[in-house]
Formats: sequence, structure tokens, C-alpha cells
Amino acid sequence: MIDKKKLRRDTLTSHAGRDPQKHAGLVNMPVYRGSTVLFDDVATYEGRDPNDYKVMRYGIYGTPTTFALEEAVAQLEGGDKAVALPSGLAAITAALAAFTKAGDHILMVDTTYGPTRTFCKRRLAPYGVEVEYYDPLIGAGIAKLLRPNTTLVYCEAPGSLTFEMQDIPAIAAAAHAQNIPVLADNTWGTPYFFSAFEHGVDVSIHAGTKYIGGHSDVLLGLIVTTEKYWLPVRRAVADYGFSVSPDDCYLALRGLRTIGVRMRQQQQSALKIARWLEQRPEVLRVLYPALESDPGHAIWKRDFRGAASLFGVVLKPVAWEAAGAMIDALNLFGIGSSWGGYESLAIRTDVNAIRTATKWSSGGPLLRLHIGLEDADDLIADLERGFAKLKEVA
Ligand SMILES: *Cc1c(COP(=O)(O)O)cnc(C)c1O
Repeated sequence: MIDKKKLRRDTLTSHAGRDPQKHAGLVNMPVYRGSTVLFDDVATYEGRDPNDYKVMRYGIYGTPTTFALEEAVAQLEGGDKAVALPSGLAAITAALAAFTKAGDHILMVDTTYGPTRTFCKRRLAPYGVEVEYYDPLIGAGIAKLLRPNTTLVYCEAPGSLTFEMQDIPAIAAAAHAQNIPVLADNTWGTPYFFSAFEHGVDVSIHAGTKYIGGHSDVLLGLIVTTEKYWLPVRRAVADYGFSVSPDDCYLALRGLRTIGVRMRQQQQSALKIARWLEQRPEVLRVLYPALESDPGHAIWKRDFRGAASLFGVVLKPVAWEAAGAMIDALNLFGIGSSWGGYESLAIRTDVNAIRTATKWSSGGPLLRLHIGLEDADDLIADLERGFAKLKEVA
């Protein structure tokens, strides 16, 4: 037996969650479908441990295919255990629900993913949970916001749409001094580029829909936890009845096997394109922590091993409609939600209406680009076409 803890990252990506000898010698874990699980006798059936979610009990808790994905992601990120959910948003809502009840106060980063904010507003606040938004740049200053009834601090780095980096170790140190768990949406960092648990995160949340799936054909979420917080999280997932199809787990596991090469390649292209964009006369700022010019670069370099290929571009002041015409003129960039697949995407985003704890002063329209596996020079030529259109309509 190999000690998987000693393996380097890429070897682990290839070997974690695999046991061919137990599955007819097949390289990949097959798709085990099933709802009912049969037991040898009444005593065994009735003696099931309700707190053991990693044995075959009933299909809703997963099959060997689910467990393989969960084990691989937990090992890669350095957490204790993981649970798969039907979407990234389901992972967020179940994780928040695990740590909140009426009368609790939670600290939510102002730059969080939009639907997370909607969930807090529509599903937590009406049930008596006080949700306080904080500045992503707060760092150790979070200590001043902690109250006796604070039950979690939620981070997301970099921030949604505007890509501010957070000093997660400093935030975690303050929260842990009061025995408060730190939850983090690590979709951008991924288990491959950000070891959330080494930086003080207790509960790491992923939209597996993005780089883990990697091919824009599966919706999936994952929550990875420390040993201490496993049971409350796993129980919340069970209580809501969240369950993922083994076919989707298979697809996510298949995607995970190549996350390293994909992300390294996409990072390289994203950096090339981001640097090119920085030099363009139409561009005010590129919001990408991997760029030396980015205010979050030092923290990113200290804490992350690499960067996702998703970043923001602030145009110099032009009409909002002109930014739309620019995107419409692109041929290779698709227009649509999500990211993390092998194909490039472009959208324009409006941040001003969303934030409450901080003020976003943009300049011109804000674009969000996702760089896929296409040749970076073809993408640059496509963006040149977009800028030509921008000039024409502005
Ligand atoms: C997409 C996304 C999610 C939600 O994932 P879904 O699988 O689409 O529900 C959560 N967090 C971040 C940062 C995301 O980009």
C-alpha cells in the first residue's frame, strides 16, 4: 500500500479515491447506481450506525462512486472528509444551515457569490439569523465584529466579480480565538491551487460544477470539513435530503483527474491575456490577483499555489451598451453563466447594486472573462475584434 499522504499533488490527483482491485481491475471507479442496499440479517440492518455516512446504508447517502469522489477531493484539499451535493449552491446553503439557528449572528463577506447573498436574505434573515456583511479587506480587524452569538465567519477569496483577496489566516486566527468556525467558498482556489485547511478554514465549499467537473456538463457541489465539523455538516446535508446522482459523481471524478494540467494551462493563458489587456488603452484596470499590479497579489502569492483563469476587466468610462456590443462582437468567447470549463466566456456585470458593507467605484463597465483551453493568441485576436467594435459604437 502506498501512503497517499506522502504523495505530491499531481500524483495524488491521479491516485486518490481509486482502488482498482476492488472494482474488477478497472482504472476508474465504475458508476454504482442504487437506492436500496440489502443486509444479511435483521440484526445487521437494525444495527446500522446513524453517524457513519461512509458505509453503504441507503442510496441517498451515496454509493462507492460518490465516496470515491468525496475521498479524492478531501485528500487533495487536505481536509478530513467531504460530502457531495447536487450543486455548488446546495453546498453553500447546507453549510450555512449547519451552523445557524434563530438568534445567531453570522459574518458574511460583502463580495460573496450573489446567490449566497440571496439565500441569506430570503432564507436566513426571516428565520431570525442576523447576517452582517463585512469588508473583504478586514483581515484581523474581524475580531471587532465577533459577538457572543456569532456562529460562523464566511470567506470567499478572491471576491465574486471584483476579485479582492482576503487574509484568511488572519481572519481564521481571530475567529478560532473565540472557537468560531471559518467557512470558505473555495471554488476559485479549488482543492488543487488553495489548501484551505492549512490556512485556517474549517469548512471548505466548492462548486464542483466549475474546474472539478471542468467540461460544462455537470452540476455538483462539495463540502470538505475538518474532523471537528464533519458531523454537523453531514447531518445538515442528510436532513435536507440532498443527494447526487452517481453518474454526476463519475463525471466530476473524471474531471478531477486532469484538473492540474487544465488549470496550469488555463492560468498561463489567462496571465498572458490579462497582461495584454493591462496595456490596452480601453482598459482601466484588470482585477486578477495573479498580476503583480493587483492589490491582492502579495496575499495570493503567499497563500495560493496558482490562479484560476477567471478575472475582471474594468473598462475606461464608456456607455454600458458599448460594453455589451463589445462582448456581442466576440466569436470565440461564449456568453453565459458559470466558468471553469475548457471554453472561454465573457459577460458584463453590475456590482453597484449588490454591495452593502463596501462601496465599489468602478470607472467604466466591468467585464468578467473566463479563459479556457483555446490558444491564447486566438483569444487575443478575438478581444481585438471586440475592442474594434467598442471603438465603433462608443
Ligand atoms: C458557480 C459558483 C457557485 C455555485 O455553483 P453551482 O454549481 O452553479 O450552484 C458557488 N460559488 C461560486 C464562487 C461560484 O462561482
